[in-house]
Amino acid sequence: MQNKNSIKRLVKNNCACYLGAKHGIQNYCCLQDGPCVFFAQDDGLPRCTYFENGVLPMDEKLEREYKSDRNVEVGFNTAKPRVNCTRCGGTFSANSNRQKYCDKCRGRARKESIRIRVRKFRQKDSSM
Ligand SMILES: [Zn+2]
Repeated sequence: MQNKNSIKRLVKNNCACYLGAKHGIQNYCCLQDGPCVFFAQDDGLPRCTYFENGVLPMDEKLEREYKSDRNVEVGFNTAKPRVNCTRCGGTFSANSNRQKYCDKCRGRARKESIRIRVRKFRQKDSSM
C-alpha cells in the first residue's frame, strides 16, 4: 500500500483526534482511546469515518486512492442526477435520464394521460 505514508502525514498534520503520544501510547487517537488505526503495523486497509469525512477531503488525489483501495463508492460518480420536474419545476433525484417528473407528479401525469386518451376515444365514438 503506497499511500499509507501519505495518509499518516495527513493524519499527523490535520486530524483533530490525533494527539501524538498520550498515556504512553504512540499515535494516540482520542476517538479510539488508543493508537490511530492508520498507524497499525499490519498491512490491512484500515478505515476511520472521522478521517474520511473531516480530513481526507483535504487531499483530493489521496482521497481517490484511499477510496479505490477500499472499494468505497466515490460519491460524485454514483450520485443520482438532480433533475427539474417538467411538471412542477421541483428538483428530484432521477433514477434514469428519461425520468421527467418527480415522484408526486409521475402518478398524476400518468392518470392525466389516461384521461386524455379516454376523452379522445369518447370524442371519436360520439362523432360516428
Ligand atoms: Zn413534480
